[in-house]
Amino acid sequence: MADPYEWLDRSLHIIQQAGWYRSVQPIDGISGATVLVNGRQLINFASNDYLGLAGDPRLADAAIDAIKKWGTGSTGSRLLSGHREIHYQLEQSIARLKRTEDSLVFSSGYLANVGTIMALVGNRDLILADAYNHSSLKKGALLSGATVVEFKHGDPGDLLSKLNQFRLRYRRCLILTDTVFSMDGDLCPLPEILDLSEQFEAMVLVDEAHGTGVIGEGGAGCVEYFGCTGRPLIQMGTLSKAIGSLGGYVTGSFPLIDFLRNRCPSWIYTTGLSPADTAAALAAVRIIEIEPERRYQLWQNVQAVKNNLYRWSQITSQRYKLLPSQSPILCIEMPNSQITQQIGSQLQALGLWVAAIRPPTTPTCRLRITLMSTHTSHHCEQLTNALTSLCY
Ligand SMILES: *Cc1c(COP(=O)(O)O)cnc(C)c1O
Repeated sequence: MADPYEWLDRSLHIIQQAGWYRSVQPIDGISGATVLVNGRQLINFASNDYLGLAGDPRLADAAIDAIKKWGTGSTGSRLLSGHREIHYQLEQSIARLKRTEDSLVFSSGYLANVGTIMALVGNRDLILADAYNHSSLKKGALLSGATVVEFKHGDPGDLLSKLNQFRLRYRRCLILTDTVFSMDGDLCPLPEILDLSEQFEAMVLVDEAHGTGVIGEGGAGCVEYFGCTGRPLIQMGTLSKAIGSLGGYVTGSFPLIDFLRNRCPSWIYTTGLSPADTAAALAAVRIIEIEPERRYQLWQNVQAVKNNLYRWSQITSQRYKLLPSQSPILCIEMPNSQITQQIGSQLQALGLWVAAIRPPTTPTCRLRITLMSTHTSHHCEQLTNALTSLCY
């Protein structure tokens, strides 16, 4: 008899040989602009905690109070025994931040995307998806059973030609795109996409995971930044990046949210968000509304690092390419997986923590730098000095 699990070892071996093998690295202490890794303090350029809220004592206090009042687990699905007033308050506060009618919180952003897409479209429908979309949009599209057609990344011209080619053959149509592309840092052409959606009677779901709290004057995200607030569309996002907690949300019109409460499998058949995560997220949304200075500081840091890296990219060899970015995510494309890992380790030896991203996460290798409002100008200088000394 052959061992039915034997293929696992062979697969792992192939992953290792390709230089794609990955493993976890434990961090210690509260994660912030600096972080403890193997007992060493590193400057943290690998976090999605853009506003430094995950370590903010106000979020921790809100979570501790919630556990003391309501316990650790929410004990049931929202429709049965797991709904609490604090869930309603968080959903109202997200709708207020986004200037939408209503919203719904999920156990994660991944589940929000997968379940919402499954609820909105089925096998008689069409999905048009940006080629660089996040895994959760891609897997949700597959699970929905709809026909999935990708359009070229960030290209409304290609979206138009795909709409012309396919739209009439299907009942409903759903356009899916990240607003901030998480592994590139660029933004989607939202106004053009919304114009096309109106012209072709298509729904639009945008993933604001990296936009919420970060982009737009009020921190409401790319929809606000592009002046598209109030236009018909579906927004989702996460509570685990700038919001510093755990969970996801969908926000939009009353009928949309009401429909999801009745038809979205990843919301109906799962346990409600824990009281602690809910309370921390609620505290964070309030801080995002009343402390715009966090966003200003973040954008100052982004501008400073971007200017330095841009100057460096003008004089460096073609081996390293700074990708165009309009967000706190700055990526440097690397020639191959070995060099990516090597430079990643060298940066770590110099006290800097930068994510080394390799396939299958992205088609090409890159260093991914994320900036936080709590980085000091000294942190930013150390980063650009190290990069310019290692990559030439
Ligand atoms: C992180 C992320 C998600 C998933 O959110 P989680 O709450 O971490 O599950 C979805 N979409 C994008 C673009 C993301 O970057």
